[in-house]
Amino acid sequence: MNAQPPASHFINGGYVEDTAGTPIDVIYPASGEKIAKVYSATPAIVDQALAAAQAAQKSWARTSGTERGRVLRRAADLIRARNRELSTLETLDTGKPLQETLVADATSGADALEYFGGLAGALTGEHISLGTDFVYTIREPLGVCVGIGAWNYPTQIACWKAAPALACGNAIVFKPSETTPLCALKIAEILVEAGLPAGLYNVVQGLGDVGSALVSDPRVDKISLTGSVPTGKKVYAAAGAGVKHVTMELGGKSPLIVFDDANLEDAVGGAMLGNFYSSGQVCSNGTRVFVQNGILPGFLEQLSARTEAIRLGDPLDEATQMGPLVSEAQMDKVLSYIEIGKAEGARLVTGGNRIEGRNGFYLEPTVFADVTDDMRIAREEIFGPVMSVLSFSDEAEAITRANATEFGLSAGVFTRDLTRAHRVIAELEAGSCWINTYNLAPVEAPFGGVKQSGVGRENSKAAIEHYSQLKSVYVAMGPVEAPY
Ligand code: NDP
Repeated sequence: MNAQPPASHFINGGYVEDTAGTPIDVIYPASGEKIAKVYSATPAIVDQALAAAQAAQKSWARTSGTERGRVLRRAADLIRARNRELSTLETLDTGKPLQETLVADATSGADALEYFGGLAGALTGEHISLGTDFVYTIREPLGVCVGIGAWNYPTQIACWKAAPALACGNAIVFKPSETTPLCALKIAEILVEAGLPAGLYNVVQGLGDVGSALVSDPRVDKISLTGSVPTGKKVYAAAGAGVKHVTMELGGKSPLIVFDDANLEDAVGGAMLGNFYSSGQVCSNGTRVFVQNGILPGFLEQLSARTEAIRLGDPLDEATQMGPLVSEAQMDKVLSYIEIGKAEGARLVTGGNRIEGRNGFYLEPTVFADVTDDMRIAREEIFGPVMSVLSFSDEAEAITRANATEFGLSAGVFTRDLTRAHRVIAELEAGSCWINTYNLAPVEAPFGGVKQSGVGRENSKAAIEHYSQLKSVYVAMGPVEAPY
């Protein structure tokens, strides 16, 4: 498959190039080879994209919701029909194995377009009776939205932001991470093919400086960022300066609590999914696995056997269960955390090394036991296949320690005692939680974090609130009672 796009940016319904921008090499993480090249957006490209979005948005907002929804649902159908091609591109962009991308990326993007396409015609204001007078509300779009993506789910992030934005009548300019610039361009092509008018979904490439230029532009009404907490703080502050709407989907260090009475096989499987899927590069991962003392030996034994059986290899081979990390820099960062874990006294149960004899950015899935709360590997987001196992003795202790973090994206509990499951989940400070499973994120469910892990929610009906606003109209039915 030729990964090279026709041009770097997609603006006003078509590809646009400006080779004056800084070149960005696209590297296939499984081989380290350059597979494409794009150019960072120049100020002229940023201006062109925002102007196109602004010009197109007003008439899109006047289109009926049903008609907007029809376009999104057609795009969802096209994505599903081309799932293999899009999944292959996602694999080339990120290195994630085809076994995952075929079921988790374009399909999840299609779900979002279908779901919000379905909601578009049902978006209404309300009538509020005041006796004779009344108020009605109009649900209006925000205007021009900017989406800024991380590199771990480039297709999904592009769709999760575009679908609710477009359903509500907004236009969007999306900036992918410079590490994974390819997939969002395909989504732009498909949206246009599905009938989306030009200018409503634009893609501009670039590094943080392009994101920063977009965020501070006065034409922009809303910013939705998926990224790390430090970037989130910068973008939130810049958005605050312009009093702009924000959605912040940021990082985490989420707890997964396994009680003695849990189904051991399910708990180990959940912990592995929550640490090794996508080579551990998932924001909501349960990277602090708290295991109750009684079950700990059996848990570690099964965990290390199943971890060592994970099939690493060529991501384009559908039998491969784990691919490389997204980039050399990310691999080096994760390797440095593995060294930190060893130096801090954590016990390496399995893994811990780069895979020898492969050119790509492969790491062994790694498990540390005897991890304590103060260790950096238990406090900082690693964003790689490194699981920290911590032990605990009782429920109250587990809750206190699970909450002792500035993050609050996700949390999970494995137990057969359903009363305890709900009691513990109610106490955990996290936005997206699971009982007896981990990391499932269907479009119907709100997704997002509390504390420093984010602001606002993606997916579900809740996302509508973050891409629209209410105009309130008071209607007087009688004379004005002026005291003067
Ligand atoms: P970064 O925070 O480094 O970057 C995120 C995006 O923001 C990139 O497109 C980046 O551009 C851009 N950016 C960087 N600086 C600025 C700035 N000053 N103004 C505007 N935009 C800027 O995150 P990563 O790409 O490294 O992704 C990993 C992080 O994302 C992890 O912390 C992870 O937890 C989080 N994440 C959160 C998710 C969630 O839903 N909560 C989901 C997935 C990931 P560029 O990189 O091109 O320079």
